Amino acid sequence: MAKGNLFVVTAPSGAGKTTLVAALLAADSQVQLSISFTTRPPRAGEVDGKDYHFVDRTEFERMIAANELLEFAEVYGNYYGTSQVWINDVMDNGRDILLEIDWQGAEQVRRLFPTAIGLFILPPSLETLENRLRGRGKDSEEVIARRMAVAKEEVNHVDEFDFVIVNEHIDDAVRDIVAVVRAQRLTLARQSVRHTALISSLKG
Ligand code: 5GP
Repeated sequence: MAKGNLFVVTAPSGAGKTTLVAALLAADSQVQLSISFTTRPPRAGEVDGKDYHFVDRTEFERMIAANELLEFAEVYGNYYGTSQVWINDVMDNGRDILLEIDWQGAEQVRRLFPTAIGLFILPPSLETLENRLRGRGKDSEEVIARRMAVAKEEVNHVDEFDFVIVNEHIDDAVRDIVAVVRAQRLTLARQSVRHTALISSLKG
């Protein structure tokens, strides 16, 4: 068993996942975020290698064929995927890894790593979700309705996750995600691997 934990965080867009994950990373230096590869063009302010590794479809399809991806999915017509090589290196070093991926990717990861821990982030209400998806009010009703439908489709998969965090007040939600990560490091399975020598030296 690898020394590190593998956390998978999934949420409908509008649940505040990115803010929550950024706060977790700031609070806990043992967690390493996997930077996904995507064919989606960068949004304003996004940095290549920090937010995503931005690649074209040809390169992404080459990565699929070369088995360089742990999982991948097509979301809103763009490819998104997790680097296999990076994950193996970090896990071998005993660090915890966090993947911020959609439910389809989470399903693939669960199959490959049955001990992966799934966290699902929920908005506090349908109204909040809709308000967040409306953004700055520049999108058509059709676009908003489509985003709502996609968000609900994501929530249909909540039962496949181990932990559920309701992001009503960000400070509480940050405490919740930090607590889940810390508690997960203290399970017998993890501690037995990390402290084998200590435990055996203390046993009578
Ligand atoms: P966005 O384009 O808004 O950054 O992300 C759109 C969706 O793609 C989100 O649900 C996000 O979690 C998901 N996503 C981002 N990276 C990956 C990845 O590497 N694999 C999978 N399966 N989904 C991803």
